[in-house]
Amino acid sequence: MSIWVRVEGQKQLATPNLVAGESIYGEKLVKHDDEEYRVWDPFRSKLAAALKNGLRADTIRTGTTILYLGASTGTTVSHVSDIVGITGLVFAVELASRVGRELIENVARKRKNVVPILEDARRPNSYFSIFGRVDVLYCDIAQQDQTEIAIQNSQTFLKVGGSIFLIVKTRSIDVIANPKLVIRDQVRKLEDNDFSVEQVINLEPFDKDHAIIRATYNHVQN
Ligand code: SAM
Repeated sequence: MSIWVRVEGQKQLATPNLVAGESIYGEKLVKHDDEEYRVWDPFRSKLAAALKNGLRADTIRTGTTILYLGASTGTTVSHVSDIVGITGLVFAVELASRVGRELIENVARKRKNVVPILEDARRPNSYFSIFGRVDVLYCDIAQQDQTEIAIQNSQTFLKVGGSIFLIVKTRSIDVIANPKLVIRDQVRKLEDNDFSVEQVINLEPFDKDHAIIRATYNHVQN
């Protein structure tokens, strides 16, 4: 889990460092109760921004298995890896090969709980390294059809009762529409596909034009 630490007089989020002494993207390392933590920057990670704005993410905890779509170079993935620890797993999907290589070099090589999957999230049947179903699906791919992609991946890999965290980049879905209407449309799509939406959190002032939707998957599998 993440905790609050004081750094230079300011309250900041931090996660227990799974690889002692290693910083991934220049974040500060701090000691708290004899343990090393990595400061989690809400301007660099939308999950940290959402937690600062009141997101409840207690389904991401020690031992959680998570399918993470849009891993990029692994900034947020690395903090999620700290939180789930050695008994959890992060299946990190990324399409772009250049950032995918950085994800492998900087994050997955040293963190045995991160499994990089260099594939297109539109083709979940091509992820051969995933076995069974996961507890959590996290989606941050900034595509127009991101909600449909998240739903398709949930149907393939998410446990019944599992959680989804969907970052909505309102402008990548529709550059003109009112962001509130864009979010309402994504909520409706989730509700039409067996999700119950629990929270919608705006990420300002850390991130402009982004929100996160937290929902539970209630689909009954045959
Ligand atoms: N989640 C990252 C973080 O917090 O550190 C940032 C993700 S960035 C906004 C979006 C990423 O999604 C990019 O690296 C992009 O290459 C990736 N992406 C876009 N479309 C994708 C797809 N169809 N399949 C997999 N990854 C995709």
